[in-house]
Amino acid sequence: MPKILKFGGTSVATAFAIKQIISIIKSSPKGTVAIFSAFAKVTDLISEAAEIALTNLVKSQELVYRIEMRSFGLIEEMISNPDYIREAEALVTIHLNELNELLESINFLKECHGSAIDSALAKGELISSAVIHFALLDSGIKSYLADSRNFMITDSNYCQANPQFNLITEKIKTELVEPMTFGDYHVAVSQGFIGRSTNLKTTTLGRGGSDFSASIIGACMAKNGYEIDSIDIYTDVDGVMSADPKLVSNARSIDRLSVNEILEMSYFGAKVLHPKTILPALEAQIPVNVMNTMNSEFLGTNIINNNVDSKSAIHSVINLKDLYIFRISSDDAKTCMNEINSLSLRIMATNSTIIYSSVIAYNGIIIAMVPDNTNLLVLHSNGKTPEPIFGCVLTGENLRIDSEIMSISKMFELGFHIPKVDYYQSPTDNSIIITSDVSLDLQRIHDELIIRSTAQ
Ligand code: ADP
Ligand code: ASP
Ligand code: MG
Repeated sequence: MPKILKFGGTSVATAFAIKQIISIIKSSPKGTVAIFSAFAKVTDLISEAAEIALTNLVKSQELVYRIEMRSFGLIEEMISNPDYIREAEALVTIHLNELNELLESINFLKECHGSAIDSALAKGELISSAVIHFALLDSGIKSYLADSRNFMITDSNYCQANPQFNLITEKIKTELVEPMTFGDYHVAVSQGFIGRSTNLKTTTLGRGGSDFSASIIGACMAKNGYEIDSIDIYTDVDGVMSADPKLVSNARSIDRLSVNEILEMSYFGAKVLHPKTILPALEAQIPVNVMNTMNSEFLGTNIINNNVDSKSAIHSVINLKDLYIFRISSDDAKTCMNEINSLSLRIMATNSTIIYSSVIAYNGIIIAMVPDNTNLLVLHSNGKTPEPIFGCVLTGENLRIDSEIMSISKMFELGFHIPKVDYYQSPTDNSIIITSDVSLDLQRIHDELIIRSTAQ
């Protein structure tokens, strides 16, 4: 049965990584769909170029030149057939010329609409998929390059567009599956992250949205009656791990995780999977695996529908970045509730993440991650500014504050001498939030609560 494979930006960063991808695709079943993100950091570069273009066109186009150098360098390294080199370079040049034209219009108009940003950002995925398509042809793999904007139909909510599942289900048949089947291709190569609105403008699904694209494509193909073996999300680490390996050196990979736990992990910011990824796949009953492009020995983290443990178990710790606490107090409970509601809406409108909120009598708190601190200026409550705090989340199964916290708090009191630590429990029993006025030692929390407790 065919698979949906998604390769993240980190997986398409070097010629060596692309070689790994080619061998993964070669050994995948015929009819597989491979979805690509932009080359690592290219989306950041384009976003920076669009911002700089408002004031300095030359400087913004220097960033485009960097993307050109990188793309042409990869073409040279990956492709040997001169015809494919020429075709790949021509396609990349078309996309880069259009990107330069977009920057010129941003500079001329001195404004940068969501629509212009999305058209610019989309070039990252269009370029990487084109290069990889020709690299596949060069290695003798029959590849079909499909522009995902022809089937990934969305609304017009630029930068965070919402997929229109019924329209995608219709279009995916005629624009992706049928041409691939009739042309007898081994693989269809397409772009994650990007789509097209019903009024024909390029859109994007939100940063990190390629994972979501893969899941939507799998689900909509399944709705057309095509059986999909799995959706495999290929990244640069051994699947979902007990912590971000960039922060905790001895983080280890997790073999199996429940859907509920991974949903909470990605909501709290574990970047390895985009938070919206799981639901379409789950609904279509397609298994999701998180794989490592660079490690073929690693069998993947398998996301399953049921719980993994019958007893209480902590699986991962996630650092909470840009964390603030909002304290609300009112003269009566109803005013307090209203204030909590209106503040929650304002927080969410700034693309911040609410981690916890509660009201007791006429006092309430909201804890939120606010990544852009200019937003703090508009997020006052009762005239009070939000206070910065530190925190992390423990995720796992059957986590209850009563039993877990006894050992966690003992660890803090004995080992860390932290004066005050607060705990908040998720109603699902899949996570416990720990906050403190002072910064938390993620490595020690990880070693004490995950490594040591499983060794016992
Ligand atoms: P991709 O380009 O493949 O989409 P991302 O950068 O979006 O990759 O996600 C992979 C990164 O997620 C890893 O390099 C790792 O640093 C980070 N990460 C954060 N938390 C975790 C975790 N719990 N397990 C694995 N990786 C994590
Ligand atoms: N290239 C996009 C980003 O960097 C989408 C993705 O990588 O999933 O956000
Ligand atoms: Mg990602």
